[in-house]
Amino acid sequence: MNNRQPGHDAERSPALPTCPPWCTTCSVEEDVPGTRHHRGTTALVNAHDGGHDVQLAVWPDYFDMPAVRRAGPPVLDEPHVRVELRSPDPEIALTPEQARALARQLNAAADAVDATPGTRAALTLGGR
Ligand SMILES: [Zn+2]
Repeated sequence: MNNRQPGHDAERSPALPTCPPWCTTCSVEEDVPGTRHHRGTTALVNAHDGGHDVQLAVWPDYFDMPAVRRAGPPVLDEPHVRVELRSPDPEIALTPEQARALARQLNAAADAVDATPGTRAALTLGGR
């Protein structure tokens, strides 16, 4: 992807993972050394919450921490798809067209995370 943010992936260190191709915005997590939070492009899908037009945000996401530090649910320890409902209402309504748009964005994000290469392979191979 060519829409990476300026400064993206600027902080480099042998302890930090490399970025997957879908990553557009990174942050180095100071609380867990050797961890980089990768975030892909956010796709917005329109919906309705009963009172207002709202949006769903969908993006590939990966809290990429060293294997020894991983203790969360597997879905959070591996590349995954994030969905944010930008509404205070827990229930939304989608037109068929909006539902298909959401499905397309979920599929695209799932395809991106499925294609995530090993982000620590170079470190392992280069360190021996
Ligand atoms: Zn990244």
